[in-house]
Amino acid sequence: MLTGMQIAIIGGDARQLEIIRKLTELDARLSLIGFEQLDHAFTGAVKEKLDEVDFANIDAIILPVAGTNQEGQVETIFSNEKVVLTEDILSKTPEYCTIYSGISNSYLNEIVKQSKRTLIQLFSRDDVAIYNSIPTVEGTIMMAIQHTDFTIHGSNITVLGLGRCGMSTARAFHALGAKVKVGARKSEHLARITEMGVTPFHLSNIVKEVADTDILINTIPYQIVSAAVISKLPPHTLIIDIASKPGGTDFRYAEKRGIKALLAPSLPGIVAPKTAGQILADVLSQLLQDDLTNRKGKGK
Ligand code: NAP
Repeated sequence: MLTGMQIAIIGGDARQLEIIRKLTELDARLSLIGFEQLDHAFTGAVKEKLDEVDFANIDAIILPVAGTNQEGQVETIFSNEKVVLTEDILSKTPEYCTIYSGISNSYLNEIVKQSKRTLIQLFSRDDVAIYNSIPTVEGTIMMAIQHTDFTIHGSNITVLGLGRCGMSTARAFHALGAKVKVGARKSEHLARITEMGVTPFHLSNIVKEVADTDILINTIPYQIVSAAVISKLPPHTLIIDIASKPGGTDFRYAEKRGIKALLAPSLPGIVAPKTAGQILADVLSQLLQDDLTNRKGKGK
């Protein structure tokens, strides 16, 4: 149970509702910032504006998956108000206050560092990233279906990267009957791709390997789908780039060549916000519980 814990949930999308539900069930008291347009009321949760919150009493702050943007703004789909997280706000919290987000950026890292607080990035945990790859892949399949006039079955699919998302993506498209090849740069990844029953290629050969691609799925957060790569793609190729913003595709060049290229962020939040929220809620409740137990042990 999280009895006695005061947590600020700042911004986010429908995934945050599962977190709110779970934490209120566990008896935490919540300040919801950026939720004034949300119709639903949760017992134990109060909607507040950022400047109304007494941060001196906040034990933990939960940000959306994306954290903040480079100006500190927190995305709030249940509010029209601009919510900006600053170093000043974090400095008002107790020293032990922990900030949770999915991913981070230089702005968020810097204000956390300057205020000497702790940031936990949930998506850097393997378990969260692997669970989250499930709705991500379902979203990728949805996009492939929506934006092509041919079946996935029998298509040539090129997946770039064999990380948590790349592996799940390659497996799912292979299971749907596509001819899947996966590009990676590590020899152990090339071995794993072979073991999975799909075709490996080294990323140094990417320009030559993409020539027969119907759908190119990029999971690498680095400019890998360059103009040189795009110039070799058949004109009907669909590029689905799921890597974090700004993606790994030269979108300008793709447009110039008339190749459809889609940056597809936050797929779990779009196709399965409930499941994606539950994944986060489960791990967050465990981390908060551990934090509370530690603090009680130290008498804080
Ligand atoms: P991951 O496990 O870290 O995998 C990233 C992959 O990219 C690895 O195979 C890595 O290979 C490769 N890579 C990184 N930098 C590279 C470079 N410079 N050159 C070649 N390969 C490189 O990450 P993940 O969990 O699969 O997530 C992949 C991306 O998707 C991330 O940007 C993540 O934020 C994003 N994501 C998006 C959604 C969505 O809804 N759109 C959902 C979940 C995740 P090495 O091991 O060789 O470095």
